[in-house]
This record gives sequence, structure tokens and C-alpha cells, in this order.
Amino acid sequence: MKQGIHPNYNITTLTCACGNVFETGSIKQNLRVEICSACHPFFTGKQKFTDVGGRVDKFKKKYNI
Ligand SMILES: [Zn+2]
Repeated sequence: MKQGIHPNYNITTLTCACGNVFETGSIKQNLRVEICSACHPFFTGKQKFTDVGGRVDKFKKKYNI
């Protein structure tokens, strides 16, 4: 084992806004992210942004557009 090559690289916890916590290698400590592989629509299959379209439809119906 050679030491001193990556003095600041270690395992740290990555905390997501959804509450998911996982470990990753980084030079930074206690990272926080707003989205991760567990809650990202691309990975979950859920489309969170479809709610925006629903609101627009309700808005149109309300004002008979
Ligand atoms: Zn997440």
C-alpha cells in the first residue's frame, strides 16, 4: 500500500433530499444532493413533471380556454 498518492480521497456519505443516504468516494465530506438514482424520474420511471401539465389543464378548464 502506497500512501500519500491520494491524501484527500476517502469514503464519504452522500445525502439526498429524498432521504436516501449512500457512500461514495470523494475528496469532500458529507455531500448533499437534491436528486439521486433512487428518486430521479429517469431511474424510478415516475414523471414528476406531469403535474405541471395537469395544472395547466385545470387552469384552462376553469377559465374556459
Ligand atoms: Zn434521492
